[in-house]
Amino acid sequence: MDSATSLPFTLSPNASPVPAQQRAQILASPGFGRVFTDNMVVIRYQEGRGWHDARVQPFAPLTLNPACAVLHYAQEIFEGMKAYRTAEGGITLFRPYANAARFRKSAERLAMPEVPDEVFVEAVRQLVRVDHEWVPGKPDESLYIRPFMIASETFLGVKPASEYLFMVIASPVGAYFGEEAVSVWVSDFCRAAPGGTGEAKCGGNYAASLLAQQEAKGHGCAQVLFLDAVERRWIEEMGGMNVFFVFDDGSIATPPLTGTILRGITRDSLLTLARAEGLSVREAPYAIDQLYADAASGRLREVFACGTAAVVSPIGRFRGPKGDAVIGEGRGIGPVTGKLRSALIAIQRGTAPDPHGWVEKVI
Ligand SMILES: *Cc1c(COP(=O)(O)O)cnc(C)c1O
Repeated sequence: MDSATSLPFTLSPNASPVPAQQRAQILASPGFGRVFTDNMVVIRYQEGRGWHDARVQPFAPLTLNPACAVLHYAQEIFEGMKAYRTAEGGITLFRPYANAARFRKSAERLAMPEVPDEVFVEAVRQLVRVDHEWVPGKPDESLYIRPFMIASETFLGVKPASEYLFMVIASPVGAYFGEEAVSVWVSDFCRAAPGGTGEAKCGGNYAASLLAQQEAKGHGCAQVLFLDAVERRWIEEMGGMNVFFVFDDGSIATPPLTGTILRGITRDSLLTLARAEGLSVREAPYAIDQLYADAASGRLREVFACGTAAVVSPIGRFRGPKGDAVIGEGRGIGPVTGKLRSALIAIQRGTAPDPHGWVEKVI
C-alpha cells in the first residue's frame, strides 16, 4: 500500500455523548490528558490483508488478550499533535503530514506496518470532525490528539506481530507548563544510544526515561536533560522535548539530528521561523561543560524546550552532578524565546499569515 492510499471509514459515533453542560464544565479547566472526547478511531491490520475496518466509534476501553504482544515486548509507537480553534470558529491542524511521515519512520524502526499518510491524516480529521465541540477556544487551549499503534497479536514468541491496531484518541488541554521558567535536571541516565530507537516516537523510550524523570523531581526539577550515550558530554534533548540555546550575539543553536534525538516538528518549525527572522541559526553539538561555562560568563542568555504539548517553555536553571547553572535571570521568558514562541503560536492559531503552508483547515 503506498502512502497516498486512502481507506473507507465506517461512522458509528457515540450515541450518548457527554451532555453539553457537562462538557462545558470539563472544558472550563481541562488539565492535561485526563479527559477524552466522545469518540475514537480504530483501524485494524492483519498480515496478508493490510489495513482494513476503519471506524469512528465510541471512546471505550479495549479488550486485549493478556498474551497480546504489545503488553510484553512494547511494540508500540505514537504521535502527538493538536487541533486549534481559530478566531472565526474554524478548526485547524498544524503540519499533520509531518506527523504522518514521522509515524511511518517510527513504524519502520519498530518493524511495524506503515500507515499510509492519507489514512493517518484522514483518521485525525474524522475524529476532529465528529468531536469538534471538544476543541476548546481560549488562548493556550487546544485539542491534543494522540494517534498510536499497538501490536495486537496474541502470541508470546519474539517477532514482529502479524496484527496491529491503529487508533486515534483526543483530549482537550490547557497550557502544559505556565509561563514561568522551569528547572531541569542533567541526568546520568541515557535516553538513546546510536543505532537504538531514539529517533522513533515509541513508548519504550518514555518507559526508559521515567526513572530519570523521577530523579529530576527529587532534585526539585520539572524536567530532565539527557546527554549523549557515548561521551556523556553532548546535550541531546529532554524526555519529550527538544532544546534550544540563545547566545549574547543573538544567534540560536540546537543539537543536530544525529539519529539519537527525536525529530521534533516544533523544533523544525522554530528553525524555519528563526531563519526567516534573519537570526543566525546553528544545528551544532553543544557540550554540557560549555553550557555551564557559557551560563557563568553570560554568553548563554536563554534556553528553552519545545514540543507540541508544551509549545515553547523557558528553562531557568540546570542542576546536575556537576553543579548548578542559572540562565539569565533564572525566571520568566527571554526576549528571543518570547518572540519565537509568539511567532509560532500566531501561525498555529491563524492570527498571522501562514507563509510555509503549515496550517490545514478541518472545519
Ligand atoms: C514528541 C517528542 C518531541 C517533540 O516533537 P514535536 O513534534 O515538536 O511535538 C521531542 N522529543 C521527544 C523525545 C518526543 O517524543
